[in-house]
Amino acid sequence: MTNPFDLTGKVALVTGANTGIGQGIAVALAAAGADIAAAGRSAPTETRAAVEALGRRFLSISADFGSTEPVQRVVDETVAGLGGLDILVNNAGIIRRQDSIAFSEDDWDAVMNTNLKTVFFLTQAAARHMLASGGGKVINIASLLSFQGGIRVPSYTASKSGLAGLTKILANEWAAKGINVNAIAPGYFDTNNTEALRADEARNRSILERIPAGRWGQPSDIGGAAVFLASGASDYVHGVTLPVDGGWLAR
Ligand code: NAP
Repeated sequence: MTNPFDLTGKVALVTGANTGIGQGIAVALAAAGADIAAAGRSAPTETRAAVEALGRRFLSISADFGSTEPVQRVVDETVAGLGGLDILVNNAGIIRRQDSIAFSEDDWDAVMNTNLKTVFFLTQAAARHMLASGGGKVINIASLLSFQGGIRVPSYTASKSGLAGLTKILANEWAAKGINVNAIAPGYFDTNNTEALRADEARNRSILERIPAGRWGQPSDIGGAAVFLASGASDYVHGVTLPVDGGWLAR
């Protein structure tokens, strides 16, 4: 029997793959056989070394996803550089923390543009290619705040809750056309995004007390779910947001 998780011959575009969760996903997809295009604003030096050490091809594409300006170019460069685009991982994202009562329009727009608007238009550009080439896989990186309210992160919660909805509507439109659209909701992962939480001793303790697994997630914990949603193993899975959270939502 062939391995349903095998990604040999596939091309995956991962946004924000230079660090953290995006890096963990890019390396896991490469270990499963995919070639990787990494699009973002910082050089993905470490990720390139890890992907090439696995014997896969790696393409770095410079792009700032604070606006929709680069989306078509990113898709075109991926297809031109690696010969196709089968898997899109919308991982690049930001967070701004402030009491809602004092939250600025800048902090609203920056987060909504990067985490939601650009994701939609990059996905649209990628899907136009996938529809013409026989199908593909889209994986959105959502959050526990796709399910819960959070605190002091109004634009982040709105963007990640919106992303869970976007995952469903795109799945409804494209499931019969060969594109799977799903999301992963990481729990509390040890990355730049959560540095402020770990630096606050009381907050760090209360977070750890609530995680059934008793530890923060590491970027390597997310790869298995991404490989599943990128592979033939998930061909009949559409529109889900899969928590990878050490059991947080079960509590
Ligand atoms: P991270 O280490 O801060 O990584 C975020 C990535 O997004 C970086 O590669 C960053 O690039 C990139 N990015 C941000 N703004 C960008 C822009 N305008 N243009 C291009 N790239 C941009 O944090 P992370 O935790 O790995 O976050 C990855 C994703 O997981 C995000 O969508 C985040 O919301 C989500 N998430 C994280 C957690 C967690 O606990 N860590 C939980 C739930 C969801 P630079 O390095 O250049 O800034």
